[in-house]
Amino acid sequence: MRFSAVIVAAGSGSRAGPGQAKQWRLLGGRAVLRWSVEALSAAGAEQIVVVVPPGDEAIAGEVLSGLDGWTAAPGGAVRAQSVLTGLAGLQDRPDDEIVLIHDAARPFVNAGHVRALLDALSDADGAVPALPVADTLKRRAGDAAVTTVSREHLWRAQTPQAFRIAQLRAAYAAWPVDAGEPTDDAAVVERAGGSIALAPGDPMLMKLTYPEDFVMAEALVAGSGQRTTRIGMGFDAHRWGPGDAVWLCGVRIDHDQTLIGHSDADAGLHALTDALLGAIGEGDIGDHFPPTDPKWKGVDSSVFLSHAVDLIQSRGGRIVNVDVTLICERPRIKPHRAAMRERLASLLGLSLDRVSVKATTTEGMGFTGREEGLAAQAVAAVELPN
Ligand code: MG
Repeated sequence: MRFSAVIVAAGSGSRAGPGQAKQWRLLGGRAVLRWSVEALSAAGAEQIVVVVPPGDEAIAGEVLSGLDGWTAAPGGAVRAQSVLTGLAGLQDRPDDEIVLIHDAARPFVNAGHVRALLDALSDADGAVPALPVADTLKRRAGDAAVTTVSREHLWRAQTPQAFRIAQLRAAYAAWPVDAGEPTDDAAVVERAGGSIALAPGDPMLMKLTYPEDFVMAEALVAGSGQRTTRIGMGFDAHRWGPGDAVWLCGVRIDHDQTLIGHSDADAGLHALTDALLGAIGEGDIGDHFPPTDPKWKGVDSSVFLSHAVDLIQSRGGRIVNVDVTLICERPRIKPHRAAMRERLASLLGLSLDRVSVKATTTEGMGFTGREEGLAAQAVAAVELPN
């Protein structure tokens, strides 16, 4: 069944603690927003609009790199405005097409949830995943005594919620200005007289709100046992020749020689690219970028690395960590290590603590010791779905 999706990720999420807004935080090595975009794409969404804080569109581009079928729209001051912006971003969709409205803060949505919602929507104007309330409910207002509230007939509404596009737009247009802010989209359709069906909810549709929710979500990812960690290694060496600078791990270093090669001869990036390709059994850098092809002459080697990253992402994989060792007598690597780690972290979409760059000499021995050339080694750990 055809459907589109709006993922609302425009909040500041201040209850989740200091640091980045929660949609940009990493969960199992992937940004929180990326989980929902990948899952809804896999479930068959034809178009996805992600609604992000105004000015954060570039961050969305980074954390969703390698994924297709989505566009970003700037969010409004309140959630309802963000939903409307998202709906406006759905281009040329038929009026009766189904749209799912989802909160990025619920990263564990899957195709099963979507199927259940679409089923429930067949004879209703909206469908919502909902769970019965299991805990006893207490009310305390100010200094008043604590009382118990009946939980009979009470349900906890989750997202994604499913509607037909034109009907949801009309319901929002009819929402009274003095009615306050709706806390979900089903409330808007209810108010406009629409019927809402409850689909089976799922504790896995938990909402990441507080810091402890992130701890629990990380534990769920780690304990799911649905992914395998793979290791890859890479080695590369290039010869020194006349020049005034050298590229290493994506950083240009002034030096009295340069490394000779078909591309920019960045042995650090080449070894790392081979490590990533090795982890997913994709051959080596020469298979993907033949040195006989003039297209790659003098090219920035970050192109090779980004290609390996795309291959991993296209398989639903993610990089756990990487470790590069540069082997040379000169130039001194240490003053450039921080810049190299930052460059690699940016190219790989990883946090800095998952990226290591080390350097050693060979005490004057061998080809690196005689300064005939520089060598680089790398290892990478990659998680792939089973
Ligand atoms: Mg090379």
